[in-house]
Amino acid sequence: MSQTEISKLSEKAEKIRTQLNQYAYEYYVKDQPTVEDYVYDRLYHELVEIEDKYPQLITPDSPTQRVGGQVLQGFEKAVHDRPLYSLSDVFSKEEIIAFDARVKKALGDQVSYVCELKIDGLSISLRYEDGVFVRGATRGDGTVGENITANLKTVKSIPLRLKEPISVEVRGECYMPKESFVKLNQQREEAGLDIFANPRNAAAGSLRQLDTKITAHRNLNTFLYTVADFGPLEANNQFDALSELARIGFRTNPEKRLCHSVEEIWDYIEEYHEKRIELPYEIDGVVIKVNDFDQQDQLGFTVKAPRWATAYKFPPEEAQTVIENIEWTVGRTGVVTPTAVMTPVRVAGTTVSRASLHNVDYIKAKDIRLKDKVVIYKAGDIIPEVAQVLLDLREEDSQPYEIPTHCPICHSELVHLDEEVALRCINPKCPAQIKEGLSHFVSRNAMNIDGLGPRVLAQMYDRGLVKDVADLYSLKEEQLLTLDKIKEKSANNLLTAIDQSKDNSVERLLFGLGIRHVGSKAAKILAEHFGDLWSITKADKETILSLNAIGEIIADSVVTYFENEEVHELLTELEEAGVNFEYKGKTSEELEEVDSVFKEKTVVLTGKLSHFTREEAKEKIENLGGKVTGSVSKKTDIVVAGEEAGSKLDKAKQLGIDVWTEAQMVAALEGGSENED
Ligand code: NAD
Repeated sequence: MSQTEISKLSEKAEKIRTQLNQYAYEYYVKDQPTVEDYVYDRLYHELVEIEDKYPQLITPDSPTQRVGGQVLQGFEKAVHDRPLYSLSDVFSKEEIIAFDARVKKALGDQVSYVCELKIDGLSISLRYEDGVFVRGATRGDGTVGENITANLKTVKSIPLRLKEPISVEVRGECYMPKESFVKLNQQREEAGLDIFANPRNAAAGSLRQLDTKITAHRNLNTFLYTVADFGPLEANNQFDALSELARIGFRTNPEKRLCHSVEEIWDYIEEYHEKRIELPYEIDGVVIKVNDFDQQDQLGFTVKAPRWATAYKFPPEEAQTVIENIEWTVGRTGVVTPTAVMTPVRVAGTTVSRASLHNVDYIKAKDIRLKDKVVIYKAGDIIPEVAQVLLDLREEDSQPYEIPTHCPICHSELVHLDEEVALRCINPKCPAQIKEGLSHFVSRNAMNIDGLGPRVLAQMYDRGLVKDVADLYSLKEEQLLTLDKIKEKSANNLLTAIDQSKDNSVERLLFGLGIRHVGSKAAKILAEHFGDLWSITKADKETILSLNAIGEIIADSVVTYFENEEVHELLTELEEAGVNFEYKGKTSEELEEVDSVFKEKTVVLTGKLSHFTREEAKEKIENLGGKVTGSVSKKTDIVVAGEEAGSKLDKAKQLGIDVWTEAQMVAALEGGSENED
């Protein structure tokens, strides 16, 4: 190659480095990547190819020469006694064959591998002294990370004390379950905040919070997979190390597998490529590790990653389609959100025709326009995203998309409040907001009024039967009979359901009022502490803030909400209608006194229940000191299997967990024992 060609290549490498460093900054420091991982990966590999061919072009600041992250301001530094490495990555079976060949060239043919899922979270390192958790840190640049001990202490799966009084430093992944990620983004959208691009960034953003109360609310979880120094543990290989970690109290991922050939590795990869949709957490590939520790030592490390492991990354689940329209919908708090309506296309096993565009900034940053050809991307079962606009295929007469200036429903002017990225309709009488508010009020976790779907509510509103939630309680049969498809029987059922809701414990009403940032958990905490609604309306910010797990944002929101005169009028109307304002559940102290088979037990409800709704059963179990969770794990004590119970029941049997029939549960709830079985 001539000198000019070399210098051209050098320039290209430099350009790529600058671009990669920018992406890495957005990803690691701001937790807001601007491109999908595979875009970064492709560019990274372009650089690797250049540097492999011409090592003289490698620079010390090249992303190929260092572990990606940086240490954020505001956190104490945490120096790692032993570095935390990254992983080399591969994208095809051929590359796995080449990896296996390299390993066997150094070690001979007697090699086995452990395949583990590559959890898409954030590396963490946890230090224990004499069995006590003393320091938790991020990976940072591999040598120095951020000290996030206080934040990690809020993550329930991290033991504060091990089952043995040993001193170890363990490493693994802290992640946000898919369900929590989707919920968090919905809440953020509704609150007018920036959304997180993926669960990994959401986990990183949640862990690196100076206010640990925020971390505590984010429902993070962990899988630990290695130890900095295996000295105190009895394991000579990775497979046993995982069991050891579980034995001393850590949460480890159960999906590991010992493989003896590339074929077995590939089977594992294909199997989990399929299963990834069903997993409750996001994975972005499979990590393949040489099992034996002595063999790992023989292979050692490069500057950045172990030579004894590699990560196979799943291909992106993407497809091309066309933006046909952008629809704007008004939420309960007035946030107006855009949704792309696209030509239907199949991606990751489902047909997709809509994708959230989140907010105005998102549309502008990607310059999304009508009729644009776009690549959409779907990771696991998470809602599809527009990954990229195909600018080369854009029609010549294409015009930038015009952001609406007025509410699509009430036509009042839209605004950006403070620093919000969201557009908001601030007309409190906007019909869309009121209808959404009514739907929220009757929803399952709120007043739980069956039979009042969004359509019925919209009709009631449009025909002037209800203008706010209090009006629901003065509805008459003859009024209901004027609504489409409502006959005598359904009218009566509705009236009974509405009437029954008056007896709800007050946390349901509090949640149903739709106070910004007050979710059902916060509502329960407030209700339990203050005992009745009027006391909450009188509480000052300091008192509210003193409650465990209630932060500044919620406290402010509650106080501001109850300062409003109209709110007081609404509450008076509700009280006059006979709606209960008292907390009917048990307080924490009372729960301690409870004597029940459910006390301190973790219960999962699955299948169809006929005696109670799930919500009712949950409430009753919680009132007897139990905890009801959504997924079955080793920590589950009882699985109640209703009719047609499916995978949760299978898993319970697999794990040997106590399975109850609905009748057993009912008997226990009504004071009996857990009966014969
Ligand atoms: P990586 O995330 O690809 O792989 C290494 C990490 O995998 C480890 O540090 C560990 O935290 C994790 N891991 C998960 N499960 C594991 C298991 N079972 N065993 C061992 N490790 C496991 O590497 P990285 O250096 O953290 O990040 C590079 C990647 O980050 C890139 O490949 C890219 O996908 C992404 N990235 C994206 C952007 C962007 O702008 N989109 C920018 C920078 C980096």
